[in-house]
Amino acid sequence: MKAHLITYGCQMNEYDTHLVESQLVSFGADIVQGVDEADFILINTCAVRGKPVEKVRSLLGDLRKVKAQRPLVVGMMGCLAQLDEGQQMARKFGVDMLLGPGSLLDIGKALESNERFWGLAFRDELHDHVPPPPVGKLQAHLTIMRGCDHHCTYCIVPTTRGPQVSRHPDDILRELDSLLAAGVQEVTLLGQNVNAYGVDQGARLGGYPSFANLLRLVGRSGVRRVKFTTSHPMNFTEDVAAAMAETPAICEYVHLPVQSGSSRVLRRMAREYTREDYLRHVADIRKHLPHAVLATDIIVGFPGETEEDFQETLSLYDEVGFDSAYMFAYSPRPGTPSYKHFDDLPREVKTERLARLIARQKEWSARKNAAKVGTVQELLLRGDAHDSGFLEGHTRGNHPTVVPKAVGVTGPGVHRARIEHATPHMMYARLIDAQGNDLPELPNLNPEAAALSAPLTLA
Ligand code: SAM
Ligand code: SF4
Repeated sequence: MKAHLITYGCQMNEYDTHLVESQLVSFGADIVQGVDEADFILINTCAVRGKPVEKVRSLLGDLRKVKAQRPLVVGMMGCLAQLDEGQQMARKFGVDMLLGPGSLLDIGKALESNERFWGLAFRDELHDHVPPPPVGKLQAHLTIMRGCDHHCTYCIVPTTRGPQVSRHPDDILRELDSLLAAGVQEVTLLGQNVNAYGVDQGARLGGYPSFANLLRLVGRSGVRRVKFTTSHPMNFTEDVAAAMAETPAICEYVHLPVQSGSSRVLRRMAREYTREDYLRHVADIRKHLPHAVLATDIIVGFPGETEEDFQETLSLYDEVGFDSAYMFAYSPRPGTPSYKHFDDLPREVKTERLARLIARQKEWSARKNAAKVGTVQELLLRGDAHDSGFLEGHTRGNHPTVVPKAVGVTGPGVHRARIEHATPHMMYARLIDAQGNDLPELPNLNPEAAALSAPLTLA
């Protein structure tokens, strides 16, 4: 079998794709990089907003045409597969197998089945399953929990991924050991609400540490860098900031989605915190980590959001001074409370507010990144940048960064570099040695490419 997997959506989906891909490899499949070479195509889907759903619909339309020409098995996994919306799409486009987020380990049964296979159960065995480490990668994801116990009114995730189930710490540490043995240097702990780790459906689980203590355990394991996502402000505790400050391996990067700066909108979203609560968390983080890099998620144009509410989001952005943000226009999702009970705002209102927020975010990212010029940052370099004379990677604070290759540093690895230029979304740096001296650039670096890559310097 020649299998090709296509992933939409979040880091959780990337992790799940890796899990299923490693199952396929264990059954003897070859993983191929293109549709044309494949006789089995598995799409890992996202249902959080309308856009990724439409992308899957259009891809399934294309694959139906390919299926009419030659033998091809098409499967859908992930959030959309769990929903009626996805199942209707699957019937319409002749999809052969569906695997919901709780049924990923049914992939073997699905392949053996001679008829259409629909796997939609939430199976316990997924939680203690440890996938093999990714091959030749310095970065890896590690799921510490699945599902979500919150009920944000706009969000489909609790329906698609079910209630929260924390993985046992022994399974997490076992998986971590295998990642370390494979040479992984940066591990990102994943969950919809990592701060609620160990408290499932309101009950604290015996033998499970708090999230702050899990961070301490993971941070002392010998791993070089630890990140985590996503934090929910409702469950964020000051002890998490304290654990970050006292554990050098934990990167000083916090992704804390606020969604809106208006307490009135937050209430309608059922986020279970106010603007003031959020600002208190930011103050706690800054108390322990004055140089923390802060990222957030924001939804604009939630039903009923007034211009005044939106102004509160802009003013919160200024008050916090986020380094970066994932920004979305509200997308009504069938099956969510806000879809059922609230009227959507006109599209023009949403897109206009989104454009204003993006402009604000760019100003802040420019300012924050410019302040890093001249500082020394630890970079995890993944490999060649767009131009092969350069390497691309990211800092401990998740800033995408490009460096010219240097004598002794021409491939992936963790290195120190001095930031020389910055734009709102990219940093440009020069590699340095342990004494802080510039490493000599490779002599054959193409000067034209270097000029092209030279970024704007921010005032
Ligand atoms: N569990 C995380 C949290 O609570 O912050 C977020 C997970 S969700 C998959 C990722 C992001 O998608 C959310 O933070 C939110 O900003 C966005 N999102 C979710 N539902 C949305 C919707 N209906 N419309 C627009 N954005 C949405
Ligand atoms: Fe969705 Fe809210 Fe759960 Fe995040 S916390 S996954 S936004 S319901």
